[in-house]
This record gives sequence, C-alpha cells and structure tokens, in this order.
Amino acid sequence: MVLVGYIPKPEWCIMTFQTASTTRQTDMQTDRALGEIYKIQSQVLLAAHEFLHREGIVQMMPVMLSPVTDPLNHEVYDASIDYLGQKLQLTKSMILHKQIAIARLDVRGIYIISPNVRLEKGVKSDRHLLEFSQLDIEIRDMPEEDFRRLVEGLMVHIFSRVKEYCEEECLKLGIDIIVPQAPFRVYSSKKLLEKYGADFESKISQLEKDLFWITDFDREFYDREDPEDKGTYINYDLCYPNGYGEALSGGERDYEYSVLVRKILERGQDPKDFTPYLELARAKQLCPSSGGGLGIERLIRFLTKRKHIRETTLFPRVPEESIIV
Ligand code: AMP
Ligand code: MG
Repeated sequence: MVLVGYIPKPEWCIMTFQTASTTRQTDMQTDRALGEIYKIQSQVLLAAHEFLHREGIVQMMPVMLSPVTDPLNHEVYDASIDYLGQKLQLTKSMILHKQIAIARLDVRGIYIISPNVRLEKGVKSDRHLLEFSQLDIEIRDMPEEDFRRLVEGLMVHIFSRVKEYCEEECLKLGIDIIVPQAPFRVYSSKKLLEKYGADFESKISQLEKDLFWITDFDREFYDREDPEDKGTYINYDLCYPNGYGEALSGGERDYEYSVLVRKILERGQDPKDFTPYLELARAKQLCPSSGGGLGIERLIRFLTKRKHIRETTLFPRVPEESIIV
C-alpha cells in the first residue's frame, strides 16, 4: 500500500467512480477502475482453472530461466543473463518446455499461467507489453480441430462466468459482456491475405462482431507443416472482434528430429541454439500434441474494453517507455 503512494499517477488511472468500496486515508491515491479490472481478472483466472481442471488438464508452474526458449517469429532485444558461465534466457514463451513436459508426463494435458518477457523492438501498439502472461496449454495427441473446440468451450466458460459474477464491476466500468457463440467462424490466412493484404488480421478484426479463427500461418518451426501438403501449416490464431486483434496463437506441433532441424535451418536459425530440446527429439522423447497460448492482459483488455493494454495492469511495461516501478 505504501509503495502505491509513490507511483506518479498517470492519466490512465484517474478516478472515475463516485464511491470507494472501502474506506481509505484521504491522501492515498487509489485506482478504482483497476480494482474492478483485477476483480474481473480474478474471475477470469478462476473460470480458466475450473474449466481446465474439469477437462483433466493439470497445472504446471512456470519456467523463467533456461538455455532454450521460443525463437519467436519477430526480432526482439536479447533478454539473457549469465549464471556461472551459463547463458540463461528469460522465457519468451514456454512452448519448448510444454512439448518436453507433455511427452514426459502421463497426463492428458498441461497448462501454465506463464510470465513471458519479450523486449520488443520498434513496436508502437496498444496491445504490446514487454512483460505479460499467457495461459499456455498443450494437449497430447490432439488434432487441431479438437483443440480449437476446447478453446471455444474455455472462452464461453470464462465470458459466462464474468457476466454472471461481475455484474457490479461491469456496471462501474460501463461495459457489457457478450458471451461468444461457438463454433467460431474460421478464415484461412491465405484467402485473407489476397483480400485485405499484409495487415489482414487487424482489418478482419475490425469487421467481425464475434470471436473468430484464422488458420494456416507460416511461422515458428515447431508449428506443424502438413506433411502431405508442404507450405500448409496446421495452426491457428484466435482473434477478438471490433479491432481488438489477436487473442491466442497455437497449432499442432512438429516433434520429429529431422523435421525440426530442417525447419530451423529453413528459418535461418541455428540448431545449436536448441541443443537440449533437439537432443530429446533425436532420442524420440517428444510426441504429437496441439496447444496454444492465450494472452491474459489482451483478454482483460477486450473484456473491459480498455483503449490500451497498459490499463489492465498496475505495473505496465510498455515498449519504448521507461519503467517507473
Ligand atoms: P504468440 O505465441 O507470440 O502469438 O503469443 C501468444 C499470445 O500472447 C498472443 O496471442 C497474445 O495474446 C499474447 N501476446 C504476445 N505478445 C504479447 C505482448 N508483447 N504483449 C502482450 N501480449 C502478448
Ligand atoms: Mg501470435
């Protein structure tokens, strides 16, 4: 509480409500909108835990330091530290650890509320943070369509719970929760590219009125390429409507050593950067799976209709801005 008193009050946390839910010292700065937003976030996380638990999917704790992490599909500044001569990277996403874990554990699926650090380069956007969290899920032996059905169920459950349990918070924030209608519409990225050009994801997001899928992206080496149809990828993005953009990225996974090495080389990356992961693939210690990572702050931004993602957190790390506390 004392700490909050030292934070200069940025324009995004100006008090908007007439009544405080608790009595506070008069000189203490409070973030009433953020209080409501965090109550909604708590219900979102409870709903996610509840849904995934019912599905027999078990929670793992996050990994934050490792010699290997997600190479990503775009360039970011290095976020690694030296510990006793070993280079350890801060986790950009837990994809490689998810693949290792799902092959090792005798469970249907796993999930992690996973903190990610991505020191974004030259990003000016209302939906990027340097530090954010994913609800990161991976299910063994699951075809992509089944994974998409699972995510649709998860989203319907989360939105329904917020609608039911957060009536007061929604009223104070002046928002209305619309529960999405499953199954969600599906678009192919290639058709959208033809129609709308390179910025298709943002254009279609502005036109749509409910959550929707886009499939078939050529991106990171671990997303499965159709072995019968090279250049077609068995992966997907879940997107929000009304211009809020991407919610989740995922796909079926490639897991065979020769395929992984070929795809790493095709992307101009160095297999040496993935040695411990590739050694497990070579020893046939990876297996078929599907999964995806849902950005928590982006979900909260969409639910609470915030203009900028920074409004979803008390401690925003915004690209190209200095961090206050
Ligand atoms: P990715 O696998 O890179 O698509 O990341 C998975 C999900 O995390 C995305 O679909 C977004 O919802 C979220 N996400 C990715 N990058 C960021 C970022 N810089 N700030 C906030 N959320 C992000
Ligand atoms: Mg993505």
